Amino acid sequence: HAKQQTEGGPVWFEPWMSAEYLESVVLEGELRDAIEKNELQLFYQPQINLATRQVDGCEALLRWFHPERGMISPAVFIPIAERSMLIEEIGMWVVAETVRQVEAWKETELGSLRVSANLSVKELVSGRIVDYLTGVREIHPGIEDRMELEITESFGVFSDGRVFEALQKLHQMGYRLAIDDFGTGYSSLSYLSRLPIQRLKIDRSFISGPDACSNAPLIETIIKLAHTLKYDVVAEGIEELEQANHLQQLDCEYAQGFYYSRPIPADEFRVWYGKYHETLLSE
Ligand code: C2E
Ligand code: MG
Ligand code: MG
Ligand code: MG
Repeated sequence: HAKQQTEGGPVWFEPWMSAEYLESVVLEGELRDAIEKNELQLFYQPQINLATRQVDGCEALLRWFHPERGMISPAVFIPIAERSMLIEEIGMWVVAETVRQVEAWKETELGSLRVSANLSVKELVSGRIVDYLTGVREIHPGIEDRMELEITESFGVFSDGRVFEALQKLHQMGYRLAIDDFGTGYSSLSYLSRLPIQRLKIDRSFISGPDACSNAPLIETIIKLAHTLKYDVVAEGIEELEQANHLQQLDCEYAQGFYYSRPIPADEFRVWYGKYHETLLSE
């Protein structure tokens, strides 16, 4: 406790009084209304098949356009939403919006792309999102083949029975599941081998961080581990062609990163896709 002098005399300073915390409380209140006020939007980032160089799918990444503060990163507001049930509302909005986009692209050249949505482990605990995804599948038959759900690995989450059960249900419904940010959350190998998932996403800190060079043997090991478990691998954070080539040599199947495209709005993504294919054909 640090003592602070103010005009009214000494007060005790508690961590919850920090400017940062107070600001997050304000943001939380504003986030509650953000859905209704139409301030949320999904951006899309391509995932490339390294062998064929074709676009295999894309990841939907959430953006909050705050009327005064401008665009706020999900890295800022998702943790705030996770402190309360707000994350469930956001999760359902993200799923609904992803489904809407998949259906909108259905009859276009983007019709064969799979769209990945991020889910927070916090959402899987209560199971509401599982019920929601059950309903989605009834209203949109076959949607499970065109969607993927990314769940971030964090300490011990997959040993939680409720999380495991939720993943099992989603898997049984046919949804494809991927572990996001793999390598940062200390998953135990015994759980990893039992998870009903299809894909690991290697965290970008391994690919483009300051230790990227010394990480090469680690990346190779992760890819081999994934393949042993019959999972395929997406490398995140590809910023240079050399990284893509290197990962392909290591048998990594898919790549995602600024080298191909930053996350962009759906209409821009469609334009990007057209140009990318022209370039592929002209080579
Ligand atoms: P993530 O799911 O691992 O998403 C990848 C993040 O890396 C994105 O940040 C993306 O913009 C960024 N990225 C992609 N390629 C590169 C690259 O080449 N270099 C660098 N430096 N960065 C790259 P973003 O969009 O800020 O999202 C941050 C995190 O927020 C996501 O990490 C995910 O955990 C979370 N998030 C985003 N959207 C949602 C959502 O709809 N629901 C939930 N629950 N979480 C979300
Ligand atoms: Mg992700
Ligand atoms: Mg990630
Ligand atoms: Mg992440």
